[in-house]
Amino acid sequence: AKTAGRDRAVVFDDAMYADAVQDAEARAQLERALAAGEFLVHYQPIVDLPSGRLIGVEALVRWQHPERGLLGPDTFIPLAEETGLIVPLGHWVLAESCRQVAAWHREVPDAGRLRVSINLSARQFQHAGLVGDVAAVLRESGIDPGRVVLEITESLLMRDTDATISTLHELRALGVHIAIDDFGTGYSSLSYLRRFPIDILKIDKAFIDRIATDPDDATLAEAVVQLGRALRLQTVAEGIESLDQHSLLSALGCTYGQGYLFARPAGPAHIEALLRQSRNS
Ligand code: C2E
Ligand code: CA
Ligand code: CA
Ligand code: CA
Repeated sequence: AKTAGRDRAVVFDDAMYADAVQDAEARAQLERALAAGEFLVHYQPIVDLPSGRLIGVEALVRWQHPERGLLGPDTFIPLAEETGLIVPLGHWVLAESCRQVAAWHREVPDAGRLRVSINLSARQFQHAGLVGDVAAVLRESGIDPGRVVLEITESLLMRDTDATISTLHELRALGVHIAIDDFGTGYSSLSYLRRFPIDILKIDKAFIDRIATDPDDATLAEAVVQLGRALRLQTVAEGIESLDQHSLLSALGCTYGQGYLFARPAGPAHIEALLRQSRNS
């Protein structure tokens, strides 16, 4: 930075310069990776409780890095959000997972009703082109919009309420369903559940972890399931790892479950094999 006089404000110091350079480099790297086709989508099964029947999959992005190997989203989604590259990356995930699941609908016997859940980041949600982009992907992939779930987080709902409500209505008018992800970890103002057009609550793993051992957590999970039922919303429990958690959530009447107990996220070939075995309807 320029040496500033004692009273002059320094508006752009070395650290800020370094940050800006780093951001530009990160963005360029992610852009290059996207153009080079290094991103891929893994799918994690979502099952009906209590039967365990496979009813859907959640699309989870991965980066097959040429030097660093297979990277999980926690290592690059925050950067993609900061640099804005989440918009084209998120669009790619949406298009790729709709294309894949539409192919399964056509080609795998009895997989015609499989749902696909796709994560939307706040920045993607606020992007002016979102509704048009989703409409175009639905049309081009030929997927039944009723089989598509868009997952948004609770904190997103607290931002610009009116704009958010109208975007959600426009998305639902396309025929897709809306899920609130990580439910219970955000602001927890319950009034928004009435005001926002949503279909599904996903109970965060943090509440599921100790439901079989901590009575307070079990009570909270039960309250969320009952809330969902009262509002005619489906409930999905995420991060189910044990049989105890499974039977408890089934007993509570939670609609769906997701977690390592049933299956880890996996590449499309593995999921297709599962679909062919389970012959779900
Ligand atoms: P999320 O949406 O809450 O996704 C669930 C995460 O929990 C996934 O991690 C999944 O692998 C993990 N998980 C599922 N069941 C279990 C379990 O039984 N035990 C444990 N320990 N973990 C379980 P993953 O794939 O690393 O994704 C992390 C986060 O990255 C996601 O959390 C989501 O917020 C974000 N993400 C992933 N793909 C995308 C994407 O395409 N777009 C956006 N915007 N975010 C994404
Ligand atoms: Ca999610
Ligand atoms: Ca989640
Ligand atoms: Ca989460």
